[in-house]
Amino acid sequence: MGDECLFCKIVNRELDSEFLMETDELVVFRDINPMAPVHLLFVPKKHIRSVNDITKEDDYILSALIFAAKEMAVRTGVAESGYRLFFNVEKGGGQEIFHLHMHMIGGWE
Ligand code: 5GP
Ligand code: ZN
Repeated sequence: MGDECLFCKIVNRELDSEFLMETDELVVFRDINPMAPVHLLFVPKKHIRSVNDITKEDDYILSALIFAAKEMAVRTGVAESGYRLFFNVEKGGGQEIFHLHMHMIGGWE
């Protein structure tokens, strides 16, 4: 899966994107169209369409996403001021890229 998937291409380095973090499970990069001073995307390396498609076998990925967010919050300086983590799910939920990803936004004054 993933020939036509933008985030698979980024994960596979077929498209240029600076990774702020990379682990066996995921990569983290800045959103191209930030809605906050800090806007990061946490993207599993495994192609999963949306939250609707996660299975019990994916629980290590979900755990990795949250722990990566915790670390990136410290590294980007928003841990104490606070931030939001969210998933958009399918079209009605605002999802535009159909490869699972978690948003982190924060850094407001
Ligand atoms: P969604 O609406 O699917 O939850 O979020 C997709 C996000 O990906 C959007 O916030 C959008 O700005 C971001 N995005 C779309 N294309 C690219 C890209 O090529 N590079 C990066 N870094 N972000 C992208
Ligand atoms: Zn994909």
